[in-house]
Amino acid sequence: MAFFRMPGVKVPHRKHTSNSIPSRITPPEEVCLLLSMHIGAPAIPAVKPGDKVKIGQLVAKEGGYVSSPVHASVSGTVKRIDDITTAANTLSKAIVIQSDGLMEKYEFLTPPQVTDRPSFIQAVKESGVVGLGGAAFPTAVKLNVKEGVTVEEIIINGAECEPYITADTRTFIDRADELLYGVDLLLKYIQPKRIIIGIENNKKEAIQKAKKLFESVKDVAVRELPSVYPQGGEKVLIYSTTKKIVPEGKLPLDVGVIVLNVTTVAAIARYIRTGMPLTEKCITVDGSAVNAPANLIVPIGTRIKDVFAAAGGFKADPEKIIMGGPMMGHSMPDTEYPVMKGTNALLAFDKKDAEIPEETPCINCGSCIQRCPLHLDPPAFGKAYMLKDPKALEKLKVNLCMECGVCSYVCPAKRHLVQRNRLAKNMLKEHNEKKKAEENKNG
Ligand code: SF4
Ligand code: SF4
Repeated sequence: MAFFRMPGVKVPHRKHTSNSIPSRITPPEEVCLLLSMHIGAPAIPAVKPGDKVKIGQLVAKEGGYVSSPVHASVSGTVKRIDDITTAANTLSKAIVIQSDGLMEKYEFLTPPQVTDRPSFIQAVKESGVVGLGGAAFPTAVKLNVKEGVTVEEIIINGAECEPYITADTRTFIDRADELLYGVDLLLKYIQPKRIIIGIENNKKEAIQKAKKLFESVKDVAVRELPSVYPQGGEKVLIYSTTKKIVPEGKLPLDVGVIVLNVTTVAAIARYIRTGMPLTEKCITVDGSAVNAPANLIVPIGTRIKDVFAAAGGFKADPEKIIMGGPMMGHSMPDTEYPVMKGTNALLAFDKKDAEIPEETPCINCGSCIQRCPLHLDPPAFGKAYMLKDPKALEKLKVNLCMECGVCSYVCPAKRHLVQRNRLAKNMLKEHNEKKKAEENKNG
């Protein structure tokens, strides 16, 4: 098992929007709902071009156990079902809905009947809620704990350690009632021994609100965490809140833990209280090219260009657009791409801030290894990748890399380490898939 410790780096917070109360944007003319905006099997269309839909209506049902349904986020007409290229350069089907501008709610939405754990899990599944901190893993699957397995802790992730992003911080402040109800549902139906809410100590207002909210709730503790990146990484958070280490190749549940993002908990509560599934998302819009940085509530499927327009457009040419935070987000090739369930930020940077420093040769300083939360060896990954040596990559445990970007951040030679880590991980994955296919072929 890779050596684990509390490492990381101090990154500039740049939480300019922490006081920005989220506001709903003017509904876009159309939305583009990807059917693969979660981990697992794509959702399957339940509508066809020409169908009229309203907000909250099911437009695609889950495509398997690990999957999630998709609901209309505007009222209007299904225009087409497209194949589009995703940010990860894969193909996904997408349902494009032309808005009628009325934003009418689907009239048949009713709160689900939740009376026990199975009906709670079923409701979470139907809500379309996935990990809203960016991971997008279907939440119902995470909560569907096998009979006999004890959940010691549910950890609610409010760390929000990436620079710029304040959407989760706003959940503590603006959705306290839903958060309280969501925690109550988890205590009642998942029955963990305790719930720990982890918040980085640079979010004073969120900590204050959460402490007040839960002061009289038994078995719930609010924990202030050092603001060190990547404090919100799942394994890092588990370690900082419980001192438990998730063994290599194991899941948090193997050490009795489930981690849920704070906005995910609020979204579950909203569905169970109102019957309205996940159709909108609070997004932090910021960066040096953005005119009026803000937290905006947008219908899922809104195109990036419409979100930036709602933030006053650009004050400088956007040289780089990132979906997510600057450490782990994805660079977007254009602004036609839609907001997904897991999108928590859109950042646009001017030429100066977008400049990529030139790489210089490695000086073997070891900083990348020292600062890596898992004590991995990124320069060695790079060498094995160049030599096309998947066996070496396996030995070096490249698969454990969580792509947090700490190694690249601390490298004095400005080596593009995390990008190479990604390529190396893909090389190992392809190698293992090929090996498995050959083994299956040969019986
Ligand atoms: S990106 Fe991977 S190798 Fe680099 S610090 Fe993070 S976990 Fe370690
Ligand atoms: S931090 Fe950069 S220069 Fe130092 S060992 Fe790692 S790759 Fe080399």
